[in-house]
Amino acid sequence: MTSAQVIDGVALSKQLRQQTRERVQTLKKQGITPGLAVILVGENQASQVYVRNKIKACEDTGFYSILEQYPATLSEFELLQRVQALNLDASIHGILVQLPLPEHIDAQKVIEAISPAKDVDGFHVASAGALMVGQPGFWPCTPYGCMKMLESIGYTLRGKHAVVIGRSNIVGKPMALMLLQQHATVTICHSATADLGQITRQADVLIAAVGKQNLVTADMVKPGAVVIDVGMNRNAEGKLCGDVDYEGVKQVAGWITPVPGGVGPMTITMLLMNTLEAAEHALPHA
Ligand code: NAD
Repeated sequence: MTSAQVIDGVALSKQLRQQTRERVQTLKKQGITPGLAVILVGENQASQVYVRNKIKACEDTGFYSILEQYPATLSEFELLQRVQALNLDASIHGILVQLPLPEHIDAQKVIEAISPAKDVDGFHVASAGALMVGQPGFWPCTPYGCMKMLESIGYTLRGKHAVVIGRSNIVGKPMALMLLQQHATVTICHSATADLGQITRQADVLIAAVGKQNLVTADMVKPGAVVIDVGMNRNAEGKLCGDVDYEGVKQVAGWITPVPGGVGPMTITMLLMNTLEAAEHALPHA
């Protein structure tokens, strides 16, 4: 039985981060150091890990980064004021407010307060709108990373059927728009989709972004398809796993991304690339 080729997100990230590091050096010679500000409100354990990883990635790549940590009692007004101050801070090119925020804070209102020029997470409506109409703007990091993975294997999307499972604003919807922009025929499936397998079996490219272990099994995959697993779940033993039954699906698929070591590292890499681009736009001639 044949086995799918693995798209290694760690190796690809390493390569892209090296390219980023080189561009950072060029920018520094022109007097600009890309700067990322990360705001964390509250004590969410997972968020603390994500934020630490982002700051570490910045340091490893030669970026300037600051982490602002606030107690869960921070008011919405105070948070908005911090975002405003960072919007005006010339040493900061990207602003990231780690989600989720405490319930008394309107996350969308905070995201909308970030200057679109510094919206390196790509969650602002201006960024979402730009993606929708095909204008330049920041793309959300996770689906952007998936596109880079497809690019890395030289995959041509034109004329192919891409099926996205999940319709969130941060993964599923922008993913579908990016695939459409590359001329794929796109189907979006979600929690109310009837007979999911009947649709996924038509997919040349299948992207799973749900958050349910083993949602995608081998019988749901077309032989030779590219399967990208965005899901991040914990199995019964507490180990990180995706939405795809990796062992089963790799017997059918042509290409597959593992979890861990797939989309996860690519997400931070694309955050670095977005921040670098934001800094490059700050050049006087840009
Ligand atoms: P979400 O909860 O906002 O969205 C999940 C989507 O799945 C929804 O649109 C829902 O309609 C759909 N869904 C739920 N049950 C379904 C079912 N049975 N069949 C088909 N569709 C179903 O989640 P999200 O923020 O989009 O994240 C999705 C997954 O990706 C999560 O596991 C999350 O942890 C992971 N994630 C990973 C990264 C990364 O860097 N690797 C980044 C973001 C999200």
